Amino acid sequence: MFCMAAQSLGYKVAVLDPSNDSPAGSVADRHLCADYLDPSALSELARLCKAATTEFENVPAPALDILARDARVAPAAASVAIAQDRISEKTFLSGHGFGVAPFAVLRSIDEARGVPSQLLPGIVKSARLGYDGKGQIRVGTQEEVADAFVAMRGAPCVLEQFVALACEVSVIVARNEHRETTTWPVAENRHRDGILDVTIAPARISPALAERAQRLATDVAVALDYRGVLCVEMFVTRSDDLLVNEIAPRPHNSGHYTIDACVTSQFEQQARVLADLPLGDPAQHTPAVMVNLLGDIWFDGDANAAPREPQWRTILVHPRAKLHLYGKAVPRRGRKMGHVTCLDGTLAQALATARAIKKELGIPGVDGL
Ligand code: AMP
Repeated sequence: MFCMAAQSLGYKVAVLDPSNDSPAGSVADRHLCADYLDPSALSELARLCKAATTEFENVPAPALDILARDARVAPAAASVAIAQDRISEKTFLSGHGFGVAPFAVLRSIDEARGVPSQLLPGIVKSARLGYDGKGQIRVGTQEEVADAFVAMRGAPCVLEQFVALACEVSVIVARNEHRETTTWPVAENRHRDGILDVTIAPARISPALAERAQRLATDVAVALDYRGVLCVEMFVTRSDDLLVNEIAPRPHNSGHYTIDACVTSQFEQQARVLADLPLGDPAQHTPAVMVNLLGDIWFDGDANAAPREPQWRTILVHPRAKLHLYGKAVPRRGRKMGHVTCLDGTLAQALATARAIKKELGIPGVDGL
């Protein structure tokens, strides 16, 4: 999606991705199929490109540092490094006075055995390489914390207190070289099994809370001296406090609705920051509900069945539903294969379309939408 946005502004895009059927590689003008730290691929990328970014936060931060010798790199390796590690992320956020769920760092089995009981029940999360609820174990007792630490093979983790949530929201912010920022409207996110299921935009929260969420996201971007597009995911507590759950140093799934519903999409804005062009207007022109399309719907509810392409006509029969498929070669359960953004004159109408599409495709979670 970033490639396509940059290309429509007239740029050529080269992609470094180790997979030979990478979706980004297939739409880019050049695909360098190599490891992210491959020295000759990085020097070829730096030779080809005036600017570089990452679409995936597990790209090793040192790769961005190497590129930064010759190209404008946004976000900087230092920002990506903070977001790649839950310990540095939470330490950075709480050190700058941003609210986070109460947590403890677990680096040894003794620390795991000795966690304060006020943090229970909680969730043990691996510090690195966790996303979409992967690398997370729910725990209720100190023994379970110790067992979870062992199950994570002793890798550094955090134990986070389980917070009673009113809802989850995210704000995407863009910040350029000149320290100018724009934020998109607050998005309301609903997860299933730790994976984003639906984004409702604008979020159904009070204008005052929405303004606080946008200010918080901007403050996080400023504290990081961030360049590029940043997503700040937040928990809204039952008492309307905002706690930062995670920061994603890139365009984010909860901002995919901006492609169809906003004057400027998160991907176009990223291209504008990289090319040092003026920032575009993030204003939302149409209420939107985005539904993720996971690989599960290729399997018809039967775990052993061969995958079968869903009937996209089910979606396209709704004239205001916009289908986006990512071209991933292999569908797998839990794998994000695409999304559909339902647009309409009111959020209630867009929600009705989203519910209908979910039902027709057999995606659970229609109730309460
Ligand atoms: P994460 O990968 O950390 O974003 O977690 C995935 C999802 O699990 C979140 O979006 C929440 O729905 C839920 N979750 C994670 N941490 C907590 C927590 N401390 N309290 C309540 N729910 C949580």
